[in-house]
Amino acid sequence: MQPEAFSMEGRFFKGNLHTHSNKSDGILSPSEVCKRYENAGYDFISLTDHLVGRYDYPIVDTKEFRNQNFTTLIGAEVHSGSMLNGELWHLVAVGLPLNFKPPKTPDFSALPGMETANDLAKRCIDTGAFLSIAHPQWSGLVLEDALSIDNFHAVECYNHGSAMQERGDGFTLLDTLLDRDRRCNLTAADDAHFKKRDFFRGWVMVKALENSPDALLSSLKAGNYYSSQGPEIHDLRYENDMVLVRSSPIERLVLCGKATTSQYIECQNNEFNEIKLVRCRNSPWIRVVVIDQFGRRAWSNPIWL
Ligand SMILES: [Zn+2]
Ligand SMILES: [Zn+2]
Repeated sequence: MQPEAFSMEGRFFKGNLHTHSNKSDGILSPSEVCKRYENAGYDFISLTDHLVGRYDYPIVDTKEFRNQNFTTLIGAEVHSGSMLNGELWHLVAVGLPLNFKPPKTPDFSALPGMETANDLAKRCIDTGAFLSIAHPQWSGLVLEDALSIDNFHAVECYNHGSAMQERGDGFTLLDTLLDRDRRCNLTAADDAHFKKRDFFRGWVMVKALENSPDALLSSLKAGNYYSSQGPEIHDLRYENDMVLVRSSPIERLVLCGKATTSQYIECQNNEFNEIKLVRCRNSPWIRVVVIDQFGRRAWSNPIWL
């Protein structure tokens, strides 16, 4: 068995799904943000400025920054409703229409009577967007918060801007959601504002036939991608209790599964590695993590066995 990201035709395109410009609280213009990512070798980004009244509800039209080698997905970080800790929700919606009706969210606080995060999430998904729960650890978001959203595609499991503040993790939330049978995927993203060195450290590799917004978006929603801080995963398959991984050179190959099940092998910088399912053998899902000699990781989406 081979996840579709590795069996389907096409190639991997590198993209950042979460970043800000001076249309909200970033410091660079939208064109400069696009130029920096393009020059750094990215195939696409989504500019996701904060959709709040303080910034006049920006959904930035980045179409003019597209060219033969680089494309953009229209997006926004959307906010409405209160998490259990009383703070405002942060969701990242990629693939929004430019005329998306913003919620009534004047600033970064949760107010009584505002649209719930679940209703806002549903409206985003109904337009065809790819929706992820942003930086859960930074937000102080708990499992009950995530379970209150009926439908979303992914948990942002590595947010580099939040990691700079030691709050970049989303894997605890993801794994507990998977244990509740919520079939969601994961993302890594920069959440760059360019005020500090908060860029080029977390991205997705999306498998698609072409570098077009429609092809990228449909692969994102189908989960045909992996997330990375550096390592590349070229192939991943599952045969007779063995997981086989072809990647850039790695030091460690890890499988994570339900509850307490996880296991790993050490890999001596090899590019082809295989691991036999032992502790994870009876888990309904596994996810594969590869780690290089610098400690940088790449993560597969969860695979349901
Ligand atoms: Zn945020
Ligand atoms: Zn953000």
